[in-house]
Amino acid sequence: MDVLVYDAHSYDRTFLDAANQGRHRLTYTAAQLDVQTAALAQGFPAICCFVNDQATAEVIERLAAGGTRLIAQRSTGYNNIDLIAAEQYGITAMRVSYYSPYSVAEFAVGLLQTLNRRIHRAYNRTREFNFRLAGLLGRDIHGSTVGVVGTGKIGAVFASIMHGFGCSLLGYDVTHNPDCLALGMRYVPLEELLRASDIVSLHVPLLPETYHMINRETLALMKPDAFLINTSRGGLIDTDALIETLRAGRIAGVGLDVYEEEEGVFFHDLSDRVITDDTLARLMTFPNVLVTGHQAFFTREAMTTIAETTIRNITDFEEGRENENILRPRR
Ligand code: NAD
Repeated sequence: MDVLVYDAHSYDRTFLDAANQGRHRLTYTAAQLDVQTAALAQGFPAICCFVNDQATAEVIERLAAGGTRLIAQRSTGYNNIDLIAAEQYGITAMRVSYYSPYSVAEFAVGLLQTLNRRIHRAYNRTREFNFRLAGLLGRDIHGSTVGVVGTGKIGAVFASIMHGFGCSLLGYDVTHNPDCLALGMRYVPLEELLRASDIVSLHVPLLPETYHMINRETLALMKPDAFLINTSRGGLIDTDALIETLRAGRIAGVGLDVYEEEEGVFFHDLSDRVITDDTLARLMTFPNVLVTGHQAFFTREAMTTIAETTIRNITDFEEGRENENILRPRR
């Protein structure tokens, strides 16, 4: 099939070309999918999208008019696709429902320990031959209570790593994962989890029900010396409320791999530009905030599976086979 790959970077090309082996004709564009760039897909029966490509109803209408029949999303999360509109315009949407959950879970632990032990600050200091320890004091993770919000594939791996650290586990999810129960996780309401946890890590998808689940009221429930880690989707956290909490010194540290306004910012080098997002700029000023640019998935293993599954999805669609990665609107 002719496939237009949106928001393509050199690493996307490397992994997709390796998985494709010339099977489909892949055309790469650095453009992100939106109302303007939908026209680039004219004549492409398939497009391949990433997390910040906006497959809104208006975009989907334009894609359908241009002959597109498949959106192959190269990620797990798919909150950027209007599935009702896709169904209405006869476009099939597929995703990568499974790839290394270790990539994201291990990164979440990395964010936590970097913040806790101030490794990022130590790195900068020692490069200037400053080997003083003042300001680098951390705490043992062993014995902490860890609240895992969303105990699916990634949350369960995160829970198991934290179990290995010697933590007790609280979970919040609409379903109870037997792997987490086997680790001794206790499922509790979100409010109780937030009140009792020393570390809170978010692993639920972004849905209307989970949008801004971390807000002024829920942040107020958290222990003032708790760490909050978000490697899921930026929209789970009300950033303005988070900034208020940080300003008041009511949280120990925040690790964010995602940000609700990351579109157009993350995955780009803006080092020569004036940053116009005052909220992001303010967030960056806190010494106890660590922001990374949506890189938790970015391991060799995850990229290989993402590319292979994306190519398999395109092939299955072309050959009329249904598979587990087809996305359907929730009824
Ligand atoms: P998953 O589907 O295996 O797990 C999600 C869990 O959330 C499920 O157990 C589900 O029951 C639960 N859930 C859904 N709606 C809920 C609700 N309203 N309240 C409570 N729990 C709810 O997904 P996963 O593979 O573990 O991925 C989790 C999220 O991580 C993805 O949706 C995606 O947004 C994010 N993600 C981020 C990166 C990154 O690079 N930062 C990479 C991959 C995935």
